[in-house]
Amino acid sequence: MAHTEILIRNARTVLCMDDARSELTGVDLRLRGGVIAEIGAGLTSDGTVIDAGTCLVTPGLVNTHHHLYQTLTRAVPGGQDALLFGWLKTLYPIWARFGPEEMFVSAQVGLAELALSGCTLASDHLYLYPNGARLDDTIAAAAEVGLRFHPTRGAMSIGESAGGLPPDSLVEHEAAILEDCIRLIDAHHDPRPGAMVRVGVAPCSPFSVSRDLMRDAALLARDKGVMLHTHLAENDEDIAYSLAQFGCRPGQYAEDLGWTGTDVWHAHCVKLDAQEIDLFARTRTGVAHCPCSNCRLGSGIAPVRAMRDAGVKVGLGVDGSASNDIGNLVAEARQAMLLQRVTRGADAMSAREALWIATRGGAEVLGRDDCGQIAVGKRADLALWDMNGPESAGSWDPAALLLAGPQRVRYLLVEGRTVVEDGQIVSFDLERAIATQNRLARRLSEQV
Ligand SMILES: [Zn+2]
Repeated sequence: MAHTEILIRNARTVLCMDDARSELTGVDLRLRGGVIAEIGAGLTSDGTVIDAGTCLVTPGLVNTHHHLYQTLTRAVPGGQDALLFGWLKTLYPIWARFGPEEMFVSAQVGLAELALSGCTLASDHLYLYPNGARLDDTIAAAAEVGLRFHPTRGAMSIGESAGGLPPDSLVEHEAAILEDCIRLIDAHHDPRPGAMVRVGVAPCSPFSVSRDLMRDAALLARDKGVMLHTHLAENDEDIAYSLAQFGCRPGQYAEDLGWTGTDVWHAHCVKLDAQEIDLFARTRTGVAHCPCSNCRLGSGIAPVRAMRDAGVKVGLGVDGSASNDIGNLVAEARQAMLLQRVTRGADAMSAREALWIATRGGAEVLGRDDCGQIAVGKRADLALWDMNGPESAGSWDPAALLLAGPQRVRYLLVEGRTVVEDGQIVSFDLERAIATQNRLARRLSEQV
């Protein structure tokens, strides 16, 4: 797709999320060649012009943890009110019936939902590959939707018969997992600035793969120069499993196996203790904070305030749609702000800080210093929020998106291309994808 020049004219407010945390009013932004080419007043262009007179412009939001395939199993009865391990056991047999079409369509729908809520860069964690499904199915979906995509090759290798949680039909041989990681990195990973696809290596969790696979995955990722991702310290059951099986806490386990560093990020980390927070800060290990999922599964309140104060890199994740059950990233940012306040008081996290975590914070976690901020030369990934609607009417602060703002973008641009226009996805046929998604969900439910 060719890059056309776009001029965003007369933005009411621009929250740049740059190092100076600039907030601009009444400025224009010229986008060209996939980057922000110019910021200033009175700019001209012969390209497309978007009038942003009523809009707050922010960097596109960054989603650092998701399982897109789960959009096909939202609100499944039996999983609605269970804790993590019981919830997984309800859903594993349903997921075992997925195939390539389920992976492709669920990713399209999940990414479109994210786009409408301001997300321009999403990571995904796919850790089961039944009936010929491949990570490539989700990569193809992201290319159609037009979002910047960091798919991670997840895996499970310890089934029920070996003392693990998943059924044996969903686990793979460890040699085959590593081989597929290499295939995917060679086929799709792009290390260059502006990359639309970067592949990560991501065994599902310490309770579904062996120690050997955790270590080999880290060695492989470093050899290939890609990032590492997994679930860690999600709830009390998770900590108890680690102590019983490995004789140590999750932080120690991660450190012993090479799972700390700037190229690693862990999802959840609800139960990190002070020592583990210090470990993550020292090693520049990232965290994907998933507040709605943590609330939904009753996992607890992640110590995000303590992490941020210690210097831990924190981004946001909507987590899988079966544990949220929506995938609205700006709503997730508001929830992150609210959840810290529940136990720590109203000054525990400001609306601006939560939005920082949702943009710049996520970009840092995913190793993207070319994204997550509005500055000349950075990628043209932007969300435009119309502050003229009922949610913001009467607001005294046009930048307070998370306190009094819409939960759906008016425009979304990725690499300078329009994905959402006037509140509608324009990059692909979303209506058709939703119809297919509902047909597939019905078929799955009829087999239960
Ligand atoms: Zn997850």
